[in-house]
Amino acid sequence: MTRPSMVLSNSAPSLDLQSLMESVVRITEQRSRENLEHCLVTTLLELTSLSRVSIQRPLMRSDGLQAECVASAEKGASTTEGGCQPLEQDHLLAQAWAMGEEARSVDSSGLVRVCLPISTMGEDVSAFLTIETRTDPGPYLDLIRGFAAIYRNFLGILREAERDTLTGLKNRKTFDEKIGRIIANSHALSQLAPQERRHHEDGEQHWLGMLDIDHFKRVNDTFGHVFGDEVLLLFSAMMRKVFRSDDLLFRFGGEEFVVILAPTTHANAHQVFQRFRTAVQDFTFPQVGKVTVSIGFVAIKPGDISSAVIGQADEALYWAKRNGRNQVRQYEQLLKDGHIKPPQEEGAIELF
Ligand code: GH3
Ligand code: MG
Ligand code: MG
Repeated sequence: MTRPSMVLSNSAPSLDLQSLMESVVRITEQRSRENLEHCLVTTLLELTSLSRVSIQRPLMRSDGLQAECVASAEKGASTTEGGCQPLEQDHLLAQAWAMGEEARSVDSSGLVRVCLPISTMGEDVSAFLTIETRTDPGPYLDLIRGFAAIYRNFLGILREAERDTLTGLKNRKTFDEKIGRIIANSHALSQLAPQERRHHEDGEQHWLGMLDIDHFKRVNDTFGHVFGDEVLLLFSAMMRKVFRSDDLLFRFGGEEFVVILAPTTHANAHQVFQRFRTAVQDFTFPQVGKVTVSIGFVAIKPGDISSAVIGQADEALYWAKRNGRNQVRQYEQLLKDGHIKPPQEEGAIELF
């Protein structure tokens, strides 16, 4: 039996409709942004004779706007990810970013690149879908635009599913996914030779901070839940302002928040959490007045177990609570100072 096929344009090869449907089904089966992006680039490469399909995400860092390559598939090579460069260094991406519309370039070797900026309703560009080919991309452009639209719609759905509805920060479910990935990546990184760890300076690592508003129950009891919610909203807005865009911000539940800092030194981690604590202390919340926050933080080490990392940050946080609140405490430092016991010792005590 011959399969129905679709002719994309006069010069394009016909495309098997069933393969196309299967591709759409496979893409929409994905439940995380990372998997969706990998699936999309490999699918587009399979369906076409393009030489490379990739996705870049714009990322605002302290050293300026970066383009991070999150998925890339190349004919004859396996799918890859990683690599970050200042967005302005890639003129095609910079143009697509500035104009907010599809951009195309041809270099002196005849390589054609087309970049489609992806933005969900009313939001800034959240990704770029870029194709590369040495032949005319025209026959495939409608197909690529169609998949870009599916990708955009799906990103919107995933975005809603991964957010907390009150504050718009990432939710607990997203935290579970992200922490697993971060631990796995830092483990993979620790296995590399030093010269291969280009993007990670020595002594830099991810840090997890657990933030809990002090005496929040009193806010609710005194002013009511609506003002309580307003404090949570303003608190999360302050988090967005103080932490960097490559730090991950979560509402963990109730009035507890988690921050995963992008790789940085211990001194910087301590400083940024202190800066946030001070920002909260100095702010006057409408009607409610002054509110403070306690913070416990810990390094995320290769091979860690996520529940143990949370437990450690939580332990540091509760030490801060028991010892006056409105302070930042680091798990390793508390251990070193003998204020808390290492896990083995605690286990040993529990046995008796
Ligand atoms: P501590 O300094 O020890 O953290 O004291 P606390 O009062 O903040 O701690 P506790 O965990 O006892 O109270 C947390 C309160 O947060 C209880 C609950 O009513 C309130 N809460 C949890 N989720 C929400 C929410 O979504 N909105 C509002 N307004 N309040 C919430
Ligand atoms: Mg609290
Ligand atoms: Mg609490």
